[in-house]
Amino acid sequence: MAVDLAHPPHVADLARRTAQFVREVVLPAEERNRAAVPSEALRRELQDAARAAGVFAPHVSAEYGGHGLDMRGRAAVFEEAGYSLLGPLALNIAAPDEGNMHLLEAVATEAQKERYLRPLATGEIRSCFAMTEPAPGAGSDPRALTTRAERIDGGWRIQGHKWFITGADGAGFAICMARTSGTPGDAGGATMFLVDADNPGMKIVRHIETLDESLFGGHVEMVFENCEVPDEAVLGAVDQGFQYAQVRLGPARMTHCMRWLGIARHAQDLAVRRSAERELFGSRLGDLGMTQQAIADSEIDIAASRGLILQACWELDQGRSAGQSTAIAKTFCAEAVWRVVDRSLQICGALGVSGDIALSRFLREVRPFRIYDGPSETHRWAIARRTLRRHTAAQAEAGAQATAATQAEAQAGAPAQ
Ligand SMILES: Cc1cc2nc3c(=O)[nH]c(=O)nc-3n(C[C@H](O)[C@H](O)[C@H](O)COP(=O)(O)OP(=O)(O)OC[C@H]3O[C@@H](n4cnc5c(N)ncnc54)[C@H](O)[C@@H]3O)c2cc1C
Repeated sequence: MAVDLAHPPHVADLARRTAQFVREVVLPAEERNRAAVPSEALRRELQDAARAAGVFAPHVSAEYGGHGLDMRGRAAVFEEAGYSLLGPLALNIAAPDEGNMHLLEAVATEAQKERYLRPLATGEIRSCFAMTEPAPGAGSDPRALTTRAERIDGGWRIQGHKWFITGADGAGFAICMARTSGTPGDAGGATMFLVDADNPGMKIVRHIETLDESLFGGHVEMVFENCEVPDEAVLGAVDQGFQYAQVRLGPARMTHCMRWLGIARHAQDLAVRRSAERELFGSRLGDLGMTQQAIADSEIDIAASRGLILQACWELDQGRSAGQSTAIAKTFCAEAVWRVVDRSLQICGALGVSGDIALSRFLREVRPFRIYDGPSETHRWAIARRTLRRHTAAQAEAGAQATAATQAEAQAGAPAQ
């Protein structure tokens, strides 16, 4: 049976126009602003240009000014935007805002949507997602959450310490995960709170110096000290924060994969161009067998990543949890993207290490992806546990069927064997 993987015409058209926008507007802007950290003025300039080109906010529903693409549609468009480090910022689909918009659309009340989602979707404000804590708090294991929120008259008081919170500096609000019941180690008892940036109880301690530089606003350490918020600041239901985190994390993992796949393609293009131009040992670099192997392996990594992303996105679009397929896709893509950029840099020799082309920058930017959105080891652990559970369930099912058959035979008077 033939399987049609073609995107519908409106998605294909948006992906084509996004690729054109990135090529004609974003890449030249990136070239002009080679400074590591993009400025707020550049963010606004690029977002205005994306709006004018009709490619802004492809993920948000039309009610909030977007194109309302499903996850499979996002896969096509986000990959094109991700071809440039600045592309996602221009389309307003960069982390963490894109994942927060997805979460707010799914969980927020109408009043919260008007107050937080609408200005976020238009790019008027930015946001952050505050979950991770310094040891011994939440990291790979979110159940270790130590930040607490206690009930006060008409609201809640949050106390806690967070770090690696992307985009917090300059954000209009934070979505903060805090424990409202139980103790660290418990699987439940977390609640999400919407905290306005001007809340005096939410303070940035420092900017953390990191390998990567392109995620807007950097990564900060922050504290919540007697941070009081009203009841209306609760996002969703009390004690359901871990469940809502899954609403955000599965799709957010996939959109990260889509964006970084764009960078992998960009890296491969640079390597292929170099292979076609550079003369070595009497032939083109690209005519040497080991270079061809590297180019072929990168093509395989890119194609396999795209296939795994689409499979997981299809499951998400069907309303399934897609826990296994998003974990498989995330683990594979994070490592495949790294391999592609690393091979591309090797093909380009010293030029690849230099700042004259973007490869050394790409290498720094993609490495942390094997840690955030769940480290590879955490995903492999979860994938293996689900696989073993499936095996145990299949064995129990086979055992139950055998017992039922034996009983049926006994009741029919047949000799049990
Ligand atoms: C660039 C960047 C941006 C980030 N942005 C945000 C953000 O905006 N908001 C936010 O809340 N957090 C953010 N984080 C934090 C990120 O989510 C955490 O780093 C991640 O969850 C891992 O937690 P941890 O760093 O505490 O590592 P730990 O939990 O201490 O884990 C350390 C290592 O243990 C290993 N490991 C994990 N599980 C297993 C296992 N089952 N078996 C064997 N080994 C295992 C892995 O190698 C892992 O790297 C960001 C991190 C980075 C690097």
